[in-house]
Amino acid sequence: MNLSYCIDPFNRKRLPTLEVRIGSLTFGGENPIRLQSMTTTDTMDTEGSVAQSVRMIEAGCELVRLTAPSKNEAENLGVIHQKLAELGHHVPLVADIHFTPNAAEIAAKLIEKVRVNPGNYADKKKFEEIDYTDESYQDELLRIEVKFTPLVLLCKEYGTAMRIGTNHGSLSDRILSRYGDTPEGMVESAMEFIRICEKHNYHELVISMKASNTLVMVQAYRLLVHRMLQNGRCYPLHLGVTEAGDGEDGRIKSAVGIGALLEDGIGDTIRVSLTEEPEFEIPVARKLAEKYQDQRVHPIENPELPLAHNPFEYTRRESQESHNIGGKHVPVVVADLSAKADISPANFFGFGYNYSVSLDKWNLQDLAADYVYIGGNDLAFEVPGTLGVICDFERWKTKYSERPGFYPLVNPEQLTQITVNQRAFLPLNAEAEIPSDLHSYKNLVLVLSTTYENKTQLFRHFFSRLNQLNSKHAVILKIASDEIDAEKFQLNVSSDAGSLFIDGYGDGIWIQSVQPLTRSNSTAFGILQATRTRISKTEYISCPSCGRTLFDLQETTAKIRERTSHLKGIKIGIMGCIVNGPGEMADADYGYVGTGPGKIHLYKEKNVVRKNVPAEEAVDALIDLIKEHGDWVELA
Ligand code: SF4
Repeated sequence: MNLSYCIDPFNRKRLPTLEVRIGSLTFGGENPIRLQSMTTTDTMDTEGSVAQSVRMIEAGCELVRLTAPSKNEAENLGVIHQKLAELGHHVPLVADIHFTPNAAEIAAKLIEKVRVNPGNYADKKKFEEIDYTDESYQDELLRIEVKFTPLVLLCKEYGTAMRIGTNHGSLSDRILSRYGDTPEGMVESAMEFIRICEKHNYHELVISMKASNTLVMVQAYRLLVHRMLQNGRCYPLHLGVTEAGDGEDGRIKSAVGIGALLEDGIGDTIRVSLTEEPEFEIPVARKLAEKYQDQRVHPIENPELPLAHNPFEYTRRESQESHNIGGKHVPVVVADLSAKADISPANFFGFGYNYSVSLDKWNLQDLAADYVYIGGNDLAFEVPGTLGVICDFERWKTKYSERPGFYPLVNPEQLTQITVNQRAFLPLNAEAEIPSDLHSYKNLVLVLSTTYENKTQLFRHFFSRLNQLNSKHAVILKIASDEIDAEKFQLNVSSDAGSLFIDGYGDGIWIQSVQPLTRSNSTAFGILQATRTRISKTEYISCPSCGRTLFDLQETTAKIRERTSHLKGIKIGIMGCIVNGPGEMADADYGYVGTGPGKIHLYKEKNVVRKNVPAEEAVDALIDLIKEHGDWVELA
């Protein structure tokens, strides 16, 4: 199988895409990664939209998108454009179009770019599965061509750029019927529109493949690049994880999805979709993009090695079980207390263990780590039975070798000092030689690390080498970070580890950082949650809101989070509008969707189960719905 989806999976090299001009801005090619966001105001509110756009531009936004649900909003984009120019801002504007070709055709004459969603440009969503024959499918494509061609010709005439923006949650019934809800369907959805543009010799295109599931999103972009490489024409790529949510979760999820692609040189512009004010998205996007200017990389000399995974499909690397690590176990989390000389029970709070002195009892939190590394330090108290302790070999040999649950960290040079059956952890440098006698020690867990910045590539290369040696040892990914900026730390670590977990690597994660232990620990669990390799908390699929939103999304998300954050493993969609919401939250267990002023529809999976609930009762009604379906848990 031809697995090409980037220039070199073992060396970070930017995918050479076509350069596209959007007003005064050039995208793709050698241009820097452009940062963009979308307003949340009503596009008919000229003053509010201009003010918000200015805040975004001042934060560094290079492209401002506004929703254009009808002809009126599309026409008002021209007014907003003019007002911004009068204020000295010439940042290109983009009209966000769903279902309304006539709005797109107006906007194409007034502003620099239109975004169309191929899932709903020419189709109304009916959630119908139709058995198309090749002939009837072809008829559908002709129908789309007739509807889409006028916009293509207008864009060509006016020098307007276009984003063909596929969303996992809003694929057309036609695509779903033939390809299913798959990355392949997402790619084909865009390709159908790209072919029409190319037929008219129009190439000012940017393409996106967004999803809220990071695995689907990464696979779809890779598959798209694969197809574009085959076709010999790579359009610039706009990256984003839809409905990433807010706060730490939103940042980690965005960094996992966007970062996994940037690691492979894929991506020319990024939008970090947070359920926060749009100007707050820009610094996050900038920090994420900055990482890829770092030159502390270690080139890999032998890039001919085959990949040990399929980049288009998730399959977890087969590893042998060592107690609760590897095999079918979820990836473990290792907390690092090695820098703490006098370890006390209070230090365990940072990684999910609370010690009650009065009850002489440990309480475990949802984010309780599985192992703690204490280096050469001592533990002068009993630790919870569920927690494994890793310590340096000399300390283990002299003090803890008889203590159950304590395991040594042995360097390659110390291997001969343990028995071949001893359970132990072996730290390995990703760029170093793999010990030749590794196969003799069946109960070793490898701890992989590197001091270089290109961790994804070095680790990936290590897994290919390990695969060649036919080693099935479980591997913990150890990510060391000396980053003091909390947000940058989370973004960097998430993008380092995210791609590897998405590719099925890693039986555990160990973050060593200068950050508080609580942050390192929650980041580790957040990465596993964002890559869906270990679910330890409620997942909120909340849209960033836009001009279609009919309620305060941030406040509502906070209220729902407050009531439901203990429902481990449940996915709740919180969507601003009925037009895109139900599709975008496609894999949520429950949905809360704005339908009109003060009115909410509630969903159980894809089915609407309560309609037009008054907004002031809707959060309670959502809780009732969760209870009715047996997913509610009372707080202890
Ligand atoms: S789901 Fe949210 S962001 Fe998407 S169109 Fe609706 S309101 Fe706007």
